[in-house]
Amino acid sequence: MRRQPLVAGNWKMNGSLSANQALVAALLASRQGMEQVEIAVCVPYPYLDQVSRLVQGSWLALGAQDVSAHAAGAYTGEVAAGMLQDFACRYVIVGHSERRTLHAETDVLVSAKFAAVQGAGMVPVLCLGETLAEHQAGATLAVLFRQLDAVLAEHGVGAMTSCVLAYEPVWAIGTGLSASPGQAQEVHQALRRHVAALDEQVAAGLQIVYGGSVKADNAAQLFAQPDIDGGLIGGASLNAKDFLAICQAANY
Ligand code: PEP
Repeated sequence: MRRQPLVAGNWKMNGSLSANQALVAALLASRQGMEQVEIAVCVPYPYLDQVSRLVQGSWLALGAQDVSAHAAGAYTGEVAAGMLQDFACRYVIVGHSERRTLHAETDVLVSAKFAAVQGAGMVPVLCLGETLAEHQAGATLAVLFRQLDAVLAEHGVGAMTSCVLAYEPVWAIGTGLSASPGQAQEVHQALRRHVAALDEQVAAGLQIVYGGSVKADNAAQLFAQPDIDGGLIGGASLNAKDFLAICQAANY
């Protein structure tokens, strides 16, 4: 049995009050042909209030792109999970490669952020991905298992019952170079088997989405793979037409 597909847009550091208004209005006007898909937009912090109001009571879920590992206190510039929950976020991305690379986030820190999100009753979208050098060195699975094991070791396989894994090869993010459907399927299957070695039932229900240059013209083939349960979409999520076409492709 297939898991419910999820397509989440990661707006990254893009948007404005007027652009967000237009984009969300276009999405909300277009549910037809994608009724089976859970759809979310992960927006920059300053726009959580705006987008939370726009999507309130609708089928469109709200997400954030990062979170502090701390609950409150003297952490200038950080945003706590409880604050995200105040704006009715359902999803929070943790461990995006841009955070791991540009902000030196370690596996341990990402694991703490993962726990902060779950502790506040939201769903972490845990990004896992290897660099081009790691990919070329044949180290893909070793890297992904290391990143995933940091969470499993700290929080146990039970933590996988209310999270989403996002396989995002770093070499495919924003580059136009997507992993092939076969390549991505192989990795998703390996991730699921890794979790299944701890708990088969949890692994069977675990949503694993793919991210990395998903576009309207490659989405259907990626989502047709048995272990690919949707996508995390960067660039293409900023254009309503492109994002909706990707959502439709996940309506299997
Ligand atoms: C991302 O940043 O999560 C992503 C997948 O980006 P893009 O779709 O632009 O490659």
